Amino acid sequence: MIPQSFIEDIQTKTDIVEVISSYIPLKRAGRNFKAVCPFHHEKTPSFFVNPQKQIFHCFGCGEGGSVIQFLMLYEKVTFPEAIEILAKRLGLSIPYQRTDNITKLYEAMQEAVVFFNKNLLDNKYTGPLKYLEKRGILIDTIKKFYIGYAPGKNSLLEYLRNKGFSLENLEKTSLIVAKEDGYRDLFWDRIVFPIFDVRSRPIAFGARIWKEINDAPKYINSFESPIYKKREHLFGLNFAKEEILNLDSVIVVEGYLDMIIPYIFGIKNIVASLGTALTEEQINLIKRYTKNIILIFDSDKAGESATIRAMDLLLENDIRPKIVLLEKGYDPDLLLREKGKDYFLKLLSQKLDFFDYKILILRKSYDIESIEGKSNIADKMLSAINKLNSEVEKYEYIKKLSNILNIKEELLLAELKKTYYKKDNAFGVSQKNIKELIPLTEKIIFKFILNNPDLFSVAKKNLKEEDFTSNISKKTFSYFLKNDFNSKTIGTILDKEINSFITGILMDEEIPLDKELFKSGIIKLVKNRTKILKEKIRENIRDAEKNNDRKMLKILIDKYNKIGG
Ligand SMILES: [Zn+2]
Repeated sequence: MIPQSFIEDIQTKTDIVEVISSYIPLKRAGRNFKAVCPFHHEKTPSFFVNPQKQIFHCFGCGEGGSVIQFLMLYEKVTFPEAIEILAKRLGLSIPYQRTDNITKLYEAMQEAVVFFNKNLLDNKYTGPLKYLEKRGILIDTIKKFYIGYAPGKNSLLEYLRNKGFSLENLEKTSLIVAKEDGYRDLFWDRIVFPIFDVRSRPIAFGARIWKEINDAPKYINSFESPIYKKREHLFGLNFAKEEILNLDSVIVVEGYLDMIIPYIFGIKNIVASLGTALTEEQINLIKRYTKNIILIFDSDKAGESATIRAMDLLLENDIRPKIVLLEKGYDPDLLLREKGKDYFLKLLSQKLDFFDYKILILRKSYDIESIEGKSNIADKMLSAINKLNSEVEKYEYIKKLSNILNIKEELLLAELKKTYYKKDNAFGVSQKNIKELIPLTEKIIFKFILNNPDLFSVAKKNLKEEDFTSNISKKTFSYFLKNDFNSKTIGTILDKEINSFITGILMDEEIPLDKELFKSGIIKLVKNRTKILKEKIRENIRDAEKNNDRKMLKILIDKYNKIGG
């Protein structure tokens, strides 16, 4: 944990202009500096840096924020890593808060890795060893991936207790679990695959049976813990990251062995999704290394829908995944062992783009010759195409779809606009869209608050989230309420949309900064709230009159008169 005071200290000591100009050339433009935006493609500069406010904002793509957000975007690093970069620039080191307890958890996991791994290396348990050998895993691989064997029978519990770990800490790692008759090992008679974080620290285990046992699940895994959040990790990334960087691409598979077997065959830019559908956190993790993602999931129905889900999420995150199709009954593990590396590489070279893959899958469910089939396929394809950010790309895929379905481009385009245009505006971060949607009054209120954080209390006292009409105003105001907005808030906001919104307002000279307008703006929103409330009551009064409900009528009229305004 990095102390908040240190983050603030770093921010006050850092000049955003200095930092950004060490990455891209900045030119003075009045009070601001400008540049060609590093985050989207453009010829004329719409990227501005304001030294007074210590913020940047691009009027083209909408990216914006403090120096921390700039580094996160430009260097593709996390928040703490950005702080680390800034600290280094200043010659400071981060006074990490004491994390003794967390350290103990990592240590316990490390000891468990050694214990399990040694069980195999010592040749004590021949059954599991033979099983692994049959699956193509020999001693070298066991050493490389620290594969182990958990005998159970509380052998790990005893081992770790003798090393001095407390039951409390061991339970936190879920290496042991509490039962009615006391604590016991979680894994009994299983082969274990340690899961490492990207810094190669062991954080969890996946444990597999090695002989048929009635009713036993094939895999059990460590539970989530203070050091293991399943959504945030990819199996094998610690081994694969260098090759991923070298090749600028990554293969994503489902299972442990689907990652390990190709790896030992020399295909080393490979990770496994830990059995979950790919998550947003995992995608962000991958994006730090490459944007070229190849999905190879099982060829069954479950694999197909996992692929489609992953594909959609990737498209939304501005990544165009490629997909490799496997023959029925194969996964990457089996395919390599049975058909060899060359065959696998050939399949890799035949990867499909998201468009071709989705068409292929849809054609299995719908008859492309029938009107109904065409319309279904068009709907589903347009929803994928709509996830693309680039209009040019959208158009290219529309052309392709038009050819395949034999439907005029114009019709498909019209359909896309009709179905998705409004949605786009609500989600889009493009400043143009935001300008159209947000009433000037709301922007004036935010501009004043952002410049006078002390007076946020005035807005807080008088306004509610619902008083704002635009979604982004609502979202920002509620964020400010939750985080008790003050002068230090701006630099630490991590939400892209909010950063884009507030830096856009701060930079926009056409939005007046004026206390009187701020006050009258608040009054206007409050009056509007009253107006809406009164309308509602009038409606109820009409209903009561119609039903001749005198008692209700009296209550409503009293209520109406009390509101005033
Ligand atoms: Zn931009």
